[in-house]
Amino acid sequence: MGKQRVTGRGSRLLDRVLAGVPEGESPLTHVAELPERDAGTADWPEWAPDPVVSAFRSVGVTRPWQHQVAAASRAWSGQHVILATGTASGKSLAYQLPVLSRLTSERRATALYLAPTKALGVDQLAAVTRLGVEGVRPAVFDGDTPSAERDWVRAHSRWVFTNPDMLHRGILPAHSRWATFFRRLAFVVVDECHAYRGVFGSHVALLLRRLRRVARGYGASPVFVLASATVSDPATSAGRLTGLECAAVTEDASPRGARTVALWEPPLLDELAGEQGAPVRRSAGAEAARILADLVVEGARTLAFVRSRRGAELTALGARRVLAEVDGGLARRVAAYRAGFLPEERRALERSLASGELLGVATTNALELGVDICGLDAVVVAGYPGTLASFWQQAGRAGRDGDGALVVFVARDDPLDTYLVHHPDAVLNRPVEATVLDPANPYVLGPHLACAAAELPLTPRCLALFGEAEARAVLDDLVADGVVRQRATGWYWVARERPHASVSIRGSGAEQVCVVEADTGRLLGTVDPGAACWQVHPGAVYLHQGSSYVVDALDLTDGLALVHAEDPEWSTSPRDVVDISVVRTLTKQKHPGGVSACLGEVEVTSQVVGYLRRLPSGEVLDHVPLDLPERSLRTRAVWYTVSDELLHGSAPGGAGLDPARVPGALHAAEHAAIGLLPLFATCDRWDIGGVSTALHEDTGEATVFVHDGHPGGAGFADRGFAALVPWLVATREAIASCDCPAGCPSCVQSPKCGNGNEPLDKAGAVAVLDAVLGVIREDGGVQHGRVLDQATGERCALTSG
Ligand SMILES: [Zn+2]
Ligand SMILES: [Zn+2]
Repeated sequence: MGKQRVTGRGSRLLDRVLAGVPEGESPLTHVAELPERDAGTADWPEWAPDPVVSAFRSVGVTRPWQHQVAAASRAWSGQHVILATGTASGKSLAYQLPVLSRLTSERRATALYLAPTKALGVDQLAAVTRLGVEGVRPAVFDGDTPSAERDWVRAHSRWVFTNPDMLHRGILPAHSRWATFFRRLAFVVVDECHAYRGVFGSHVALLLRRLRRVARGYGASPVFVLASATVSDPATSAGRLTGLECAAVTEDASPRGARTVALWEPPLLDELAGEQGAPVRRSAGAEAARILADLVVEGARTLAFVRSRRGAELTALGARRVLAEVDGGLARRVAAYRAGFLPEERRALERSLASGELLGVATTNALELGVDICGLDAVVVAGYPGTLASFWQQAGRAGRDGDGALVVFVARDDPLDTYLVHHPDAVLNRPVEATVLDPANPYVLGPHLACAAAELPLTPRCLALFGEAEARAVLDDLVADGVVRQRATGWYWVARERPHASVSIRGSGAEQVCVVEADTGRLLGTVDPGAACWQVHPGAVYLHQGSSYVVDALDLTDGLALVHAEDPEWSTSPRDVVDISVVRTLTKQKHPGGVSACLGEVEVTSQVVGYLRRLPSGEVLDHVPLDLPERSLRTRAVWYTVSDELLHGSAPGGAGLDPARVPGALHAAEHAAIGLLPLFATCDRWDIGGVSTALHEDTGEATVFVHDGHPGGAGFADRGFAALVPWLVATREAIASCDCPAGCPSCVQSPKCGNGNEPLDKAGAVAVLDAVLGVIREDGGVQHGRVLDQATGERCALTSG
């Protein structure tokens, strides 16, 4: 690592944090200094009416930034546009300006704002209300809006703030009550649109097509304005999400203070052992607590991002414990921030952090936070948040005042985190992943076409909106089911009940399993049926808004999980056994050296057979067996096969593995590949699964499968196939750069392995991946790799290693 000594506040803070670490035991793997950026401002556009410009001036915006004007002017001229810039770059103004200008100059026009979370919608409403532009009457319409108020909003508000859930269940099914609003709809704002990825993204993409169709039914074709964190190829993502051609504005002209970014790998502990006796690292949360405490002692206002709500509370608690020994007053200036807080509590906490009354806050993810928390002295990111877009959004909360700030990324024991702290370029110099979603997935498309038909009859012309061929196939099924009838003019919903209530846009689309507190009968939440055995099996610890429950019983027939309030010291992780069969191979690349790479449809059969109880330190208490039914899933997978000659051959290029080592080598390569796919597709390792076998009956060879975890797939396997070479290179690197002797959670162990992480052969996995990559490269791999690089936005360096 290159240890530079610069005198900025960021590196001074880092020195303080490192002060207690013994010489030679530095957890740092890399330190980078990101320079300051000056502001680029612009004049207010001529089209913006005076009252709107004065409203912005009255809240302190004297001149807008260039990117705000560029995006706003496109939207004003009627072009669909996505603004993809960093945190605190004023994306709100870019849509407020054209929307408020239109609502001011056309006294009847209306606008709709969509946020992925209720909290963000409420924040944005407050910002628009503060501007006080006359005649707009902005209002929230979400699940919390009292029914008396709903009538007022429908009748009078000209700018309605809502979320996809409410649009799906509350607004579109009742569109006739919103007829006036839809007829005059001029703008649709889609905020934080990078949150719409995977299956949720596919749902929202179809929901927006339903919205466009209903608006068109009333004669309106609104302009879409999207705001996103920086993502690669935003125009394509926005196009896939809305189905419309969108211009992209990406040049960020907001000012930014210098930042020191430190990559940090917690040490392996001697005293604890995990599964199969593997070494355990100090947990990222515990490490973050210590760093947070050190920064608070320095008087630095610090935000620590932790992956789970429980983790956030433990981190705050840990920091307070350290501080109590130094100064009881300081301990009281650290808090945890969690979902489930009332809006007032949330804002009070945000205000005290802004004022410096609170110095340290541990929180879960950025979307739950108010947009105005920024300009902090330090940010600690404990565990990679899943996408680079989220990482930079979290990091962007630090440093705006030109004084320099510190960002510390603490790796969790996970192969992706290991890879990132050892490959700083992949964090610092890599374009952010493109958002992956697949609106053509028939499992998602079906329920939305049913909803669409129930909203307004589907004419042949409408079908183009949903993808003509896929939509026709799905409609044939709905006709066969008797819920839709085809007439000369189109398709009509004929079932008595409307489909909306049974379609969950945050899951697979199927009927949900209800999680109910047994004592009180209170409904705590719902779980996707496909995930029920995973998340709410008997004995599972279930978290709801920061409170902990333990599951007593799961009844899959009635779709009911009964729980009671309890907060044990352990967490639970389920274990399953999985079998996979190939239904159809869609694409196959056969390389002469003994490797084939395929993309296709598969049938995955899985059964949760038990769960592990684990302490926060990572220590495993025990394995509890379970008796639950099998589940089968039709989805998409990417797989590669390896010939026996290549596996066993000792000639140059062969893996040289004894047959007894092959299962462990493939299994380890599979686990690490699942861990690294999120580097290329915007998925979580829990969204995908894998199977490896020394001889698969459908391929006739040693095979490693990685499959989508949702019916029909969400585009993740497709992405893995397109990025196969850089993905496998990164997988190999993550395994090779872990300094454990024979495999640990940071490289080849998986937290969800059905086989209890047995057998695993770390060195064997590197040998297999080297052999496979050697064969692919031999077969024109360099050229192949470069093509893939463009497709994935990956740097060429990754494929030439
Ligand atoms: Zn390891
Ligand atoms: Zn496994």
